[in-house]
Amino acid sequence: MADNQKNKDAIAAQKDIVIRALDVKRHYGQAPNLTRALDGVTLDVHRGEYLSIMGPSGSGKSTLFNMIGGIDSPTEGMVFIDEIDVAQLDSFELAWMRCHKIGYIFQSYNILPVLTALENVSLPMLFAGLSADDARDKAVGILRKVGLGERIFHRPYELSGGQQQRVAVARAIANDPVIILADEPTANLDVRTGKEMIELLVHLKNTE
Ligand code: ADP
Ligand code: MG
Repeated sequence: MADNQKNKDAIAAQKDIVIRALDVKRHYGQAPNLTRALDGVTLDVHRGEYLSIMGPSGSGKSTLFNMIGGIDSPTEGMVFIDEIDVAQLDSFELAWMRCHKIGYIFQSYNILPVLTALENVSLPMLFAGLSADDARDKAVGILRKVGLGERIFHRPYELSGGQQQRVAVARAIANDPVIILADEPTANLDVRTGKEMIELLVHLKNTE
């Protein structure tokens, strides 16, 4: 292959990297109580890739989630989201990135208890500037997509754990993020419901 073509391929591959972590360290506390939660993580995630990170409790999974999600910043190293160096963003730009580029799913669902499924899913779209009507219409479509078309007016306490987590998934994809981050999304679910959750996430990736 000609060098020129190789360079073009390399540039194209680079463009397809949505997450790049370069020697990321996150240390908590100070000696002698220093915790090296992350100690040099280098990682590329490509567009369309589905990646699971497994490790025992305390191994740094949530810390890495926070680094990639722009929730916390590394002690050392760099994080790029869709080619943007997260450390260079001011708080306004960081908030914009979190709203538009990343969908978050947590172990404990974290959906708002006083809001209906529809309102929970509409909220990020309102933050992103959609009109109330457009947000509602889009939220209905997404809730159907995750299998909750019959539950849109239910509040979290009227839903099962698995259904609440589906609302959380619907909310996470509301603003068409480039990245969906999920931190132990199945930990509070029974094995079967957890498996359905993973199947849903894989399905959503494939139907994007
Ligand atoms: P995991 O999600 O894999 O269970 P965490 O990323 O939550 O692991 O934690 C990794 C390590 O960092 C643990 O030893 C934890 O006690 C420590 N840690 C996490 N957050 C903090 C913090 N805010 N302050 C001090 N230590 C922390
Ligand atoms: Mg954790």
